[in-house]
Amino acid sequence: MKITENFELQEFVSPQIYKKFRHKSIIFLDSRLPGAVQALRDKVNMPLIINGKYKKKKYIHSGFRSKLTNSFSWYSQHRFGRAVDIKVKDTNAVYLYRWIMTHQKEVREMGFTTIEKFKYTPTWVHLDMRMLPADHPKDKLLVVSGRSKKSFLNRLKSLFNG
Ligand SMILES: [Zn+2]
Repeated sequence: MKITENFELQEFVSPQIYKKFRHKSIIFLDSRLPGAVQALRDKVNMPLIINGKYKKKKYIHSGFRSKLTNSFSWYSQHRFGRAVDIKVKDTNAVYLYRWIMTHQKEVREMGFTTIEKFKYTPTWVHLDMRMLPADHPKDKLLVVSGRSKKSFLNRLKSLFNG
């Protein structure tokens, strides 16, 4: 089911979820997410892949992640339907990463707030729209490292302590 100019709902949820909930799967997504991904695609003007075939591999957990998957984590932004792991069809993901890092203000205006450091995501770009602390600069993305539960908890702890 097409939900924006260039993206189908199936690109944002896994096949299991889509099979179970069909067009109602859309309720698992943050209402801003598809529009933000479309805005990014329009701006970089390159085909972007979330779930789907990319370099002979089929990706199915690059958008919303439910408890039905083994890549599920209680703390991941993917669980809230607020995150995407983006592959770029015609070039390497590092191009997209660099573009985003030099256009952070625009990317914030699209609705994204956070990016994972490229060294942790070598073939894709993780973007999400988590809530940021009020004192975070409005024109800068939060750049996070690591995807482990431990580093998440440490970050959370530092937010409350600092
Ligand atoms: Zn991700």
